[in-house]
Amino acid sequence: MKTICIPCGYIYDGNEPFQSLPKTWCCPDCGGSIMSFAEIDESLPKKVHDILDDPTL
Ligand SMILES: [Zn+2]
Repeated sequence: MKTICIPCGYIYDGNEPFQSLPKTWCCPDCGGSIMSFAEIDESLPKKVHDILDDPTL
C-alpha cells in the first residue's frame, strides 16, 4: 500500500511501513504533516487522480 501526500501529490514509497513512521514525520516535498497523507490502492490508479483533482482538499 502506498501513501500519497494530498496537497502536493508526493508518494511515500520508502522501505519502512508508513504506519511505523514517527508522528513528527512530514512530507519531504512540501513539508506537510503526516496527517496530510492518505493511503492509495495501486489497483485503482484513477482514484488517485480523483483525489488530486478534488478542489475541496
Ligand atoms: Zn507533500
